[in-house]
Amino acid sequence: MCIFCEIANGNIPANIVYEDDQVLAFLDVAPTSYGHTLVVPKQHTESFLDCNPALLHHVMDVAQQLSNKLMNNLNCDGINVLTNVKEAAGQTIPHFHVHLIPRYEDSAKENVKFQFGEIDKIDVEQLVSNIIR
Ligand code: AMP
Ligand code: ZN
Repeated sequence: MCIFCEIANGNIPANIVYEDDQVLAFLDVAPTSYGHTLVVPKQHTESFLDCNPALLHHVMDVAQQLSNKLMNNLNCDGINVLTNVKEAAGQTIPHFHVHLIPRYEDSAKENVKFQFGEIDKIDVEQLVSNIIR
């Protein structure tokens, strides 16, 4: 059983901040910022790609509600909402989860490094036709 299934089944402890019959949210064990939270469907599903749409919608509803709580109750200045899909994108736990990463102007409260560099020139028309085909 994967580690998030173990948490959902109560076999491994977690700092739970939200729970209903389908979804659990708990603090990340290695937070990159103050209040870093994971929103997780209780049913095992590998990633965003294969989560059934009704469950995905519910996960995102909970993610939105908790994001508002983090904004209001932790006084963060922003929040990154993200999910990593597969190892190449940084997914280390193969059980779908959404990261809520509160962001702070006060750098003492976060240690977050995202970098979006730019790739070399591309054929945009060909790219669009490849994506939509
Ligand atoms: P990802 O790299 O997107 O798969 O994210 C996995 C996240 O799960 C990481 O941020 C880990 O710190 C976190 N994590 C791993 N094990 C646990 C655990 N037992 N309880 C809470 N968070 C965990
Ligand atoms: Zn699982």
